Amino acid sequence: MVSTAQKPTMSYDEAIQLFELAADDLELEEELRLLLRMPHRELHVEVPIRMDDGSVNVYPGYRVQHNGARGPYKGGVRFHPEADLDEVRTLASLMTWKCALMDLPFGGAKGGVQCDPTTMSTNELKNVTRRYTQNIAHIIGINRDIPAPDMGTNAHTMAWMMDAYGQIEGHTPGIVTGKPVALGGSVGRESATGRGVVFVLQALCRDLGREPEEVSIAVQGYGNVGSWTATLAAEAGFKVVGITDVTCGVYAENGLDIHSLRDHLDQGGMLSDFQEGVELTNADLLTLDCDVLIPAAIGGVITDDNCDAVRADIILEAANRPITGQADESLRERGTIIVPDILANAGGVIVSYFEWTQNIQQFRWDEKRVTHELARIIEGAYEAVSALAREKRCPMRRSAYLIAVEKVAEAIRLRGFV
Ligand code: NAD
Repeated sequence: MVSTAQKPTMSYDEAIQLFELAADDLELEEELRLLLRMPHRELHVEVPIRMDDGSVNVYPGYRVQHNGARGPYKGGVRFHPEADLDEVRTLASLMTWKCALMDLPFGGAKGGVQCDPTTMSTNELKNVTRRYTQNIAHIIGINRDIPAPDMGTNAHTMAWMMDAYGQIEGHTPGIVTGKPVALGGSVGRESATGRGVVFVLQALCRDLGREPEEVSIAVQGYGNVGSWTATLAAEAGFKVVGITDVTCGVYAENGLDIHSLRDHLDQGGMLSDFQEGVELTNADLLTLDCDVLIPAAIGGVITDDNCDAVRADIILEAANRPITGQADESLRERGTIIVPDILANAGGVIVSYFEWTQNIQQFRWDEKRVTHELARIIEGAYEAVSALAREKRCPMRRSAYLIAVEKVAEAIRLRGFV
């Protein structure tokens, strides 16, 4: 769980620009644009809890349901000091496009509580989670809206959410995904986002004719997504040369031994006291001399100020919108290949979908099946996005939005909303 003073993501205005560009290309009718410009529902709740010292704190909480034309709303819950309505709204819209691009039967949503999990005790976090869940319970449901973990939350948070919801509606494991396996979670969910990132990286390298052993990678963030991305990329033969978390990082020109790094951190060590490599800052990591840069922490880290110094010629957006709009444009002009967030980090929601279906069917899949189906869906989406990008001679972000917006628009038309 993390804290940072930095504003994590793009604004909703920026998110809308991406939608408008796709809508222009698709010549989308104005009625549909009106519908898709604003989220369907936004809920703001106060989350009051008694702290361990006896005082009371009241945290603002949000749940935004962006669009549900293709199925129940789906999206994570973020605990972060900067989580506000604009950010949650932005992330909810990304979920609409991501689920559509992956052809999952979900709409898009996001939740957030503006709190700093790094300064709170387990008991305080449990109470925030329970109270937040009670306050949004009337708009979520197994066929309405299914939350999942995001920054600052994890499988344990989902167990508390499931329990709090169950106290109102009865035992309902499918109300959240990303739960512990012992409570109906799916095997392979924890590693799913990182695994998806690596599947996309492998597919891209095959297209470019580059062997993993020749490809060096730098990963920003060592949370759920960053740690699994680094581990699985190293297992696939890629050379992971740099990793950071919010505090600092390590660099080794010939590649880090990711398994010994993992053991070191599991035993309570810090990145700064890892024996191998040299220490580096987050700013250094973004401008490392490497082939692939994988931001896997917060949004808005590659900006107009530092994009000229980025040396990687491929960027995979494992985090949600780590590149600002202007930086995106400058990098594209320089020929940097950018794999957009709604494609690169979709592995998590894909396996969340598998978890939801397993809960409904009260049946468990094994890890082999989860991994196989994850690869099939995310590689299929990559093929579709890269083929359209080639055909239209446009960046992959543009082709990904074209596919996603068209699918949502089609669902709205078929339902007869307008
Ligand atoms: P996490 O809370 O598990 O880990 C976040 C990591 O980022 C930590 O290592 C933290 O130290 C680091 N970090 C925080 N602030 C930083 C900063 N200013 N500079 C550098 N590093 C910083 O979160 P996560 O679940 O791994 O999510 C990471 C990103 O991936 C987020 O953008 C999230 O929205 C996105 N994402 C997550 C999932 C998922 O399944 N968890 C799915 C899709 C997208």
